[in-house]
Amino acid sequence: MEGGNVIDEHGPAGAPTLARAPLPPRAEYVVIGAGVMGLSIAYHLARRGVTDVVVIDRGYLAEGASGRNGGGIRQQWSTELNIRLMQQSVELCRRFAVELGVNVWFRQGGYLFLARTAAEVQRLERNIALQNRCGVATRMLDAGAAGDIVPELSLDGVVAAAYNPTDGILFPWPFLWGYARQAAALGVQLHTHTPVVRIDAGTTGYRVHTPRGEVVARRLICAAGAWTPEVARMIDVEVPTWPIRHEICSSEPLKPFLKPMVSELSSGLYCSQSMRGEIVGGVTVPGHGSTYSMASTLEFVATYARRLVRLMPRLGDVKILRQWAGPYDCSPDGNPILGAPPEHPDFYVACGFVGHGFMMAPVIGKLYADWLTGDAPHEIFQRSTLARFRDGAGAGDKEDFNIG
Ligand SMILES: Cc1cc2nc3c(=O)[nH]c(=O)nc-3n(C[C@H](O)[C@H](O)[C@H](O)COP(=O)(O)OP(=O)(O)OC[C@H]3O[C@@H](n4cnc5c(N)ncnc54)[C@H](O)[C@@H]3O)c2cc1C
Repeated sequence: MEGGNVIDEHGPAGAPTLARAPLPPRAEYVVIGAGVMGLSIAYHLARRGVTDVVVIDRGYLAEGASGRNGGGIRQQWSTELNIRLMQQSVELCRRFAVELGVNVWFRQGGYLFLARTAAEVQRLERNIALQNRCGVATRMLDAGAAGDIVPELSLDGVVAAAYNPTDGILFPWPFLWGYARQAAALGVQLHTHTPVVRIDAGTTGYRVHTPRGEVVARRLICAAGAWTPEVARMIDVEVPTWPIRHEICSSEPLKPFLKPMVSELSSGLYCSQSMRGEIVGGVTVPGHGSTYSMASTLEFVATYARRLVRLMPRLGDVKILRQWAGPYDCSPDGNPILGAPPEHPDFYVACGFVGHGFMMAPVIGKLYADWLTGDAPHEIFQRSTLARFRDGAGAGDKEDFNIG
C-alpha cells in the first residue's frame, strides 16, 4: 500500500495482516501498544483529522490483555464517573459494527451479580441506587427472580441479585481488527512485531528506537497496558502499576441457554455464553503475586470447575476446551492513570485499568483524542493523573467494584 500503510485487506477470517513497511522518520504521534487502548486512541485521533500517527507493538494485534479477556461490558459500577463513562462506552459498542464495518458479536444479555451475604446485598443496593440516579435500569432481584432469568442456577445460599439488562459481552478480537483497519484506512500506520527498546527525550520530540529503525515523535502515547512501567522507565518516569495474572477458560459449545454474564460476588466467579455457545469464564485465584507470567495452572481450572458446578450443576459434564491467562494492569487505588507527567508534557499514558480496560477503551480513546485535539479535558483526566501518587492527593471516589 502507498505511504507505508500496513493493512493487507486479504488477511484470513477478517483479521488484518500487517505488511513490513519501514518506520517513517517522524510522526506527530507515536502510540506504543496496539492493544484496544492504543488502537482506540489512534482511531479517534484519525477521526478528528490527525492522521500522522504511528502505532507500534512488539507483538501481534491482540497479543496483550486485549486479546485475552472475557469481553464483558457493564454499567454496574460503584462510582458515578465510571457509570457515566460506561454508559457512553455501551453506546459506542452498539454503534461499533456499523461505524467500523466489523461484526463484534456485541450481545446485550445483561449482567447478573449474585449476593450470598447481607453485606453483599447492601453493597449492591448502594450501587443500584447510584446507577438508577444515573439512568441505568439495574434492579434488585430476589433469588427466585434471578432463577427466572437463569433457570440452570442453583440458588442454594443466593440471597439476592443485581440485574441490568443492557450490559453485555462482545468478541474482543474483531473489535481490535475494526479499529486497526479503519485507523489504517484513515492514514494511521501500524507496525506489529516492532518492540520499542529505547526512547531518547530531546528538544524536538522523542526518538523511539526499535530493531526495525527509529521514529521521532512530537508526542508519545504510551498504551503498553501492564508493560507501561517498563516503557515509561525508558525516559525515567516511574508509573506505579503492576501486573497480576488473571486466568480464564472456555468450554465446548453448548446450545444457547445463558443470556446474561453471571458473576458471584463472594468468589469472583464469572461466566457467560459466547455467540458460538462456549461458556467463557474465570474466577479469582488469590496468591499468584505480581507476575508477567501467562502460564495456566491446574489450581485455577480446579477452582473454577468446583465453583461453576456448585452454581450451575448442569455444567458438571461439560468439557473445558481452552485455558489461558493475561495480565490485569493494577494501580494502587484501582483507578486508571491518564495524561502526561509535568516533567514530560508530551508523554501521555493510558494504563491501570485492572480488569475493565476493554470496556473503557471505546470512551477513553474518544475522550483522549478529543482532548489532544483541543477540547477541554474530561473530568476523568483531572482525576487520573500520575501526580496523584506523588502528592498524595488521591483519585477521588475509590471504585470498589473491580470484579469480573
Ligand atoms: C483474563 C482477563 C479477562 C478480562 N476480562 C475483561 C472483561 O471482561 N472486560 C473488560 O473490559 N476488561 C477485561 N480485562 C481487562 C482488559 O483486557 C484490559 O484492561 C485491556 O485489554 C487493556 O488494554 P491495553 O490496550 O491497555 O493493554 P494490552 O491489550 O495489554 O496492550 C498493550 C500492548 O502493548 C504492547 N507492548 C508492551 N511493551 C511494548 C514495547 N516495549 N514496545 C511495543 N509494544 C509494547 C503489548 O505487546 C500489547 O499488545 C480482562 C483481562 C484479562 C487478562
